[in-house]
Amino acid sequence: MVKKAKMKKTGLVLAGKRVLMPGFNITNFLDNPHLHLASGDVRRRSPWEQEGIHLIVMHTTGGIPGGKDLRPQVIIPGTGLSSNAGERIVSSWSLDTDRPGGAALIIDFDCEIYCCTDLILEAAYHAKAANGCSVGIEIVQGKNAELYSKQLATAAKFTVALCKILPTPIQLQIPLPYQAKPIKRFVDSQKTNRPLFDVVGIVGHRDLTSSRGEGDPGDAIMKALSDRGCQSMDFEARGDITIWKERQFFLGMTMCDGIPGKETVKALKIRGCKDGLWVNGNAK
Ligand SMILES: [Zn+2]
Repeated sequence: MVKKAKMKKTGLVLAGKRVLMPGFNITNFLDNPHLHLASGDVRRRSPWEQEGIHLIVMHTTGGIPGGKDLRPQVIIPGTGLSSNAGERIVSSWSLDTDRPGGAALIIDFDCEIYCCTDLILEAAYHAKAANGCSVGIEIVQGKNAELYSKQLATAAKFTVALCKILPTPIQLQIPLPYQAKPIKRFVDSQKTNRPLFDVVGIVGHRDLTSSRGEGDPGDAIMKALSDRGCQSMDFEARGDITIWKERQFFLGMTMCDGIPGKETVKALKIRGCKDGLWVNGNAK
């Protein structure tokens, strides 16, 4: 019997370069070309967008509970079996030609991560007006609305690691617990020509639009992110802007606009903050 050659797994693809992420099992579209999103599901980012990715959007592939399917999410302890999510889901997106759709990253039941675009050069069609400024992460959800506890823990750990390695690191902040509706500020800003430019952090698809339900991505992943040190902020009331104006003042910045972008990251690094992130309410 001829042994099947083992596929190489070389991490993420950022601006044309493979980036290994120790501790994660990641296959990318350079390792396996079938993993790349179809041309209708992805576009090239503008140079301005490439510089300014400032949002991570979490999803579940099932989006349950949501729409007519209101079954609660079932969290199964441990790890599940591979569902061959990469090729399987990328091809299901590409077959759905009526609706462009896809995400840069997919996390399977067995914690394998599939990288389906160049995270910097390409924007997947996962969150309408937020596509250009964000990276989308799809967590595989099964037919019984199930997710696995280790899959969620891996998704949270990976998301935090990803925030640190983007051109401008993304601060570890998430919305307050979901209130059964999107965050008005996010919805309103998507109607402008600079959608979500002042929002930095990790949000759920459900926070951006009323067309998605509670289960996209559900409370369990947001709790896992909180357990990983992500700080809840009142985005609706612009609490993030207030907090960051104070932090920027504390950091001695001249421009205290409340948006923790490139200059804030620089100021945090000067203060000795690892990765340019304000972690656990501390500038150290
Ligand atoms: Zn979604």
